[in-house]
Amino acid sequence: MSSDCLFCRIVAGELAASHVYSDDTVVAIRDIAPQAPTHILLLARTHIPSVRDLGEADYGIVSAICAAANQVATQEGIAEGGYRLVVNVGRDGGQTVDHLHVHLLGGRHMAWPPG
Ligand code: 5GP
Ligand code: ZN
Repeated sequence: MSSDCLFCRIVAGELAASHVYSDDTVVAIRDIAPQAPTHILLLARTHIPSVRDLGEADYGIVSAICAAANQVATQEGIAEGGYRLVVNVGRDGGQTVDHLHVHLLGGRHMAWPPG
């Protein structure tokens, strides 16, 4: 855990969030500034700054996040209609919090290309 990381502090329960799911590897919370009717953040429990920092030993975390996304989407009633998973990487990728997370967006049609 990194004490100056927002998402580490949410995972540790030091900061409040609207939790929707958790397991040994993943904590899922509602985004504070939702961009769709359903906008959930799947946070790795471990502090890894971004996809760029993933090592081979971390690949299980990525699988666990995808499995959790599927489960949360089902819970939210959007699995059948479809949803979007987004990972912003680095500043040009739009990443603002340097702790590995995946956005789960749904409940409306997602346009393409993204902005
Ligand atoms: P990024 O831009 O790094 O891909 O995503 C960070 C996300 O975290 C943004 O969508 C932003 O709205 C969300 N966020 C920032 N601060 C908080 C917070 O304190 N609580 C929650 N639940 N979400 C946050
Ligand atoms: Zn962190």
